[in-house]
Amino acid sequence: ADKLARVKDALKSFPDFPKPGILFRDIFPLFRDPSVFNDLIDLLYDTIKESSPGVQCIVGLESRGFLFGPLLAQKLGVPFVPIRKKGKLPGDLVSVTYDLEYGSDTFEAQKGSILSGQKVVIIDDLLATGGTMKAACDLVEQLGAKVDLCLVVIELADLEGRKKIPKPLKTLITF
Ligand code: 5GP
Repeated sequence: ADKLARVKDALKSFPDFPKPGILFRDIFPLFRDPSVFNDLIDLLYDTIKESSPGVQCIVGLESRGFLFGPLLAQKLGVPFVPIRKKGKLPGDLVSVTYDLEYGSDTFEAQKGSILSGQKVVIIDDLLATGGTMKAACDLVEQLGAKVDLCLVVIELADLEGRKKIPKPLKTLITF
């Protein structure tokens, strides 16, 4: 509970960013204090151990999922695999296109990066409408793997993104 309180205290909120009416939750301040960053990693690690024992692969979402994903994968002794926005990854890819508030975006992953049948945990910093996490679930399943857990640091409950996620979802902090 102490760890969670320290992580929560380190977050900052910015009204009207990046657009009027949006309250942006900034996670970067917690990286300024190594002990708070360590608290966060401990909390995420414990959640994975409890909710996805036997996880075989950690998938991080561009870009803030890349901040914790590799560290957690290293601690767990499993591979880390990135899901990126269109055009960033080389080689043979699978892709999924998903709707945004205005227009759409495409996520890509490298074929062979996640193995068919693997138990996967997908990690990102924040769940808002849930569109991003839902797209990531679809992409992982396209590769024949199983989404065992979706994990985010922050959930914006008002937006009801949780309803869109067809898999177990754990969040550390809910606003
Ligand atoms: P969604 O698809 O759930 O609407 O949006 C989630 C994605 O947008 C995540 O990848 C997250 O990084 C980003 N995002 C949306 N709002 C915020 C915010 O207030 N703070 C941060 N750090 N990321 C946000």
